[in-house]
Amino acid sequence: MSPPVFRFAPSPNGHLHLGHAYSALLNFDRARGSGGRLLLRIEDIDATRCRPEYEAAIYEDLAWLGITWEMPVRRQSEHLADYRAALEKLSALGLVYPAFESRAEIARLVTAREADGPWPRDPDGAPLYPGNARLLSGGERSRLIDSGVPYALRLDMAAACRRVSSLTWNELGEGPDGERGPVAARPEAWGDVILARKATPTSYHLSVVVDDGLQRTSEIVRGQDLFHATSVHRLLQALLGLAEPAYRHHALIRDSDGRKLSKSDRSTGLRELRAIGASPARIRQLVGLG
Ligand code: GLU
Repeated sequence: MSPPVFRFAPSPNGHLHLGHAYSALLNFDRARGSGGRLLLRIEDIDATRCRPEYEAAIYEDLAWLGITWEMPVRRQSEHLADYRAALEKLSALGLVYPAFESRAEIARLVTAREADGPWPRDPDGAPLYPGNARLLSGGERSRLIDSGVPYALRLDMAAACRRVSSLTWNELGEGPDGERGPVAARPEAWGDVILARKATPTSYHLSVVVDDGLQRTSEIVRGQDLFHATSVHRLLQALLGLAEPAYRHHALIRDSDGRKLSKSDRSTGLRELRAIGASPARIRQLVGLG
């Protein structure tokens, strides 16, 4: 049997904090304890927020923590063709449509719909896509695309769900409400999610699923903030014929006010803690892995 595959997948849009250290150390410890492999993936598809100096800092901070990973590192920005191919596969199934509303128009549509009562929200609290772009004719779509307006490529969630039988995943960790073991996926709770944009041929959901499939990740260890997104990931895996990994979601490290840590909060940044003399062993203690 091939060894288990783990991955740590940070986005280089800021410096790592204690929450990242916890996730990276859990992956490292699980890989070592199981004779598995640890991969590092740089999730840098958002060119407006990602910076090379943050990427360099990720390598330095992880090495300082004593973490080792397999080379080469996969940088998502170098694999756009893989995401495009997956998107084409979903398009060929008739599951993708362009939606032309701007963010402001979407906000206006939601407000209008809320006149009749609350409009449904996704598990992250964002309103579901309220538009009707799915109903545009082929001719209207081509005309709008040719006119150069920006668009998002959305998944026709209802049609996608009709193509798969009920999906579950094996939760080895714990969801925010104590979910464990087989968990039923509920991708419909996310509505017609964005898979790509005119300017970026992928999205978080699409690239994470394609990469974990190509890299044969067998156990995904990540924060509970991504627990509900797993429903969308399971659906995309099923549609794209990719293997199903196990998931181990972990509790989030919180600040003294109980808030999720942010990359802009200096008191919990690894660089800041190192500058005031914290050792890697102290970081382990601070995240409860001492
Ligand atoms: N890149 C994501 C983040 O930094 C993590 C993706 C994942 O683990 O699935 O939050």
